Amino acid sequence: MYDFHIVGGGFAGLTLAYKLIQKGAHVLLQDHFHSGSGTIASGALLNPLSGPHLALPTQGGPEYSRIIEDYHSWEQKLSKQLLTPHKHLRVLANDRQKRKLLNNQDKQSFVRVWHNTKEKNIIMPLGAIDILQTYVIDPHSYIRIMKNYLQQQGSYLQEEWDPKQPVKANKTILCMGPFDPFAKESLHYVRGETLIISLKEPLDYILSKGVALIPLNKQHHGKHLYKLGSTYDRYTPLEYKRTTKGREDLLHQLRQFYTGDVQVVGHQYGVRPVGPDRSSLWGLHPDNDKYYILNGMGSKGTLNAPYYADLLITELIS
Ligand SMILES: Cc1cc2nc3c(=O)[nH]c(=O)nc-3n(C[C@H](O)[C@H](O)[C@H](O)COP(=O)(O)OP(=O)(O)OC[C@H]3O[C@@H](n4cnc5c(N)ncnc54)[C@H](O)[C@@H]3O)c2cc1C
Repeated sequence: MYDFHIVGGGFAGLTLAYKLIQKGAHVLLQDHFHSGSGTIASGALLNPLSGPHLALPTQGGPEYSRIIEDYHSWEQKLSKQLLTPHKHLRVLANDRQKRKLLNNQDKQSFVRVWHNTKEKNIIMPLGAIDILQTYVIDPHSYIRIMKNYLQQQGSYLQEEWDPKQPVKANKTILCMGPFDPFAKESLHYVRGETLIISLKEPLDYILSKGVALIPLNKQHHGKHLYKLGSTYDRYTPLEYKRTTKGREDLLHQLRQFYTGDVQVVGHQYGVRPVGPDRSSLWGLHPDNDKYYILNGMGSKGTLNAPYYADLLITELIS
């Protein structure tokens, strides 16, 4: 018997497994690839100011910086790079947005004003801000690095989980994203689409205004690739597929601030579950008390997964 059996190897499950092993627990993580997982589709941007109001994360600015430090400590232990720092230019939408931002003391430490309004191919009559402490986690490398680590510990099982399987641990924690078979009532599901695009003229920073253009460390026919995301689609009957509308919406939004030549080379979708009132779910499973849950990471999985994993671990270990 293991101490903990974690089902699901996205940001939530992998982060929880890593942190429990660091505490000396005997852990098994079980995952079986399902298309539609949020982690694979994710832009995986770690960004202190987001949304139309450039809001700080609910955890607050100091906690954001602490989580970045936490990631750096894993990088040292694993001898691998997880976070790629990026310059992040956010095009300002209006004067009010700029005023509100510059009058907010808590946000100041994350902002540098970019006075230049004439960057090639960029429409920014009010200028932009550079959002400091922005990072990207490549979801594929994150999964590969964490999976290798768990395999070395004898803690990884690649197999579909079925609730009828014999119990493998004292406590089972479901980190199954949108595929949790019990949490249908407790979670809302927000579908998102992203495009992989190439640009004729490369940009060496993240450019955003509503949607974000994120440089990838990859090329296609000699051109640099970027992830463009994401749509936020919560009012549907949920469709587990990519759509022409998603593709057109993303390109339309990009055209509001970027005029250079763009070619679409890939298109992904994923589902981000979110708990009631946009909160995450952690602790005893609300719909089946045989299990624990870590889910509902919403659109900030990279930030919420380590934060709520810590809270859950305190509960599991006590
Ligand atoms: C389009 C899009 C863009 C996003 N952009 C960002 C971003 O820029 N920054 C950010 O921080 N967050 C972003 N997010 C949110 C983030 O990706 C999610 O919050 C996060 O991935 C959720 O992780 P999870 O582990 O809870 O779920 P998931 O990633 O969905 O993982 C669930 C795992 O469970 C496994 N599984 C399911 N059923 C079974 C079974 N029966 N047996 C075994 N395994 C099973 C699945 O294969 C999967 O690996 C984005 C999400 C989307 C959809």
